[in-house]
Amino acid sequence: MATLTNHTGNLQTALVNVRQRIAEFERKYAREPGCVQLLAVSKTQGPERVHAVYELGQHRFAENYLQEALGKMDALADCAIEWHFIGPIQSNKTRDLAARFDWVHSVDRLKIAQRLNEQRPPARGPLNVLIQVNLSDEDSKSGVAVGEVASLAAGIAGMPQLQLRGLMAIPAAATDFAAQRLVFRRLAQARDQLVANGHSGCRELSIGMSSDFEAAIAEGATMVRIGTDIFGARVTMP
Ligand SMILES: *Cc1c(COP(=O)(O)O)cnc(C)c1O
Repeated sequence: MATLTNHTGNLQTALVNVRQRIAEFERKYAREPGCVQLLAVSKTQGPERVHAVYELGQHRFAENYLQEALGKMDALADCAIEWHFIGPIQSNKTRDLAARFDWVHSVDRLKIAQRLNEQRPPARGPLNVLIQVNLSDEDSKSGVAVGEVASLAAGIAGMPQLQLRGLMAIPAAATDFAAQRLVFRRLAQARDQLVANGHSGCRELSIGMSSDFEAAIAEGATMVRIGTDIFGARVTMP
């Protein structure tokens, strides 16, 4: 794992390395080649660093903070970037989320879903959303309990400007690889249950960060969210 902020010259090495590891884990766990998408988590990184990674062929980026993301989107308006929102959602931020992002991973309340649905500009087509699930049962973490996924999914299914695409989770750091896998397996099972109950477009599993993406790929991740292993350690907060 990277321990220092990567300078531009190192970004290429880091990105190639992450891509190679994803491919290796797809093989190791008998996943279809290329089935795991890499999202580069660019929080705290300036637009020039995002642009450098974009020029290396990485076109999917994920952001946690709306204001910070909007600045980068404006600076990089000429780039064909697919933007993913992965941070906590306050209801007064939904208008910009609905207008500017391609995917929102952190929907965990019906009220937020309703606002995104109402505020999505029709010309952009339905917004891709994931339900964020709290696998660690900690009060402090965002996300619905596994037992509440079905009712939130049913609500979203009736919203024409939202397309429910799957589930996302940010589990508490686990002690070892086997423990990481067990937690991710619960999310995969919840996703399988949704598909079995008729949510046929609900196939994505957004799990896996720099420290646990092997376990996530072993358990069926389709989107891994990698910051540190691409950009290096984050040294500044916005
Ligand atoms: C920061 C962040 C990541 C990336 O974490 P790294 O450990 O830097 O790879 C992934 N997902 C979410 C929700 C994050 O906030």
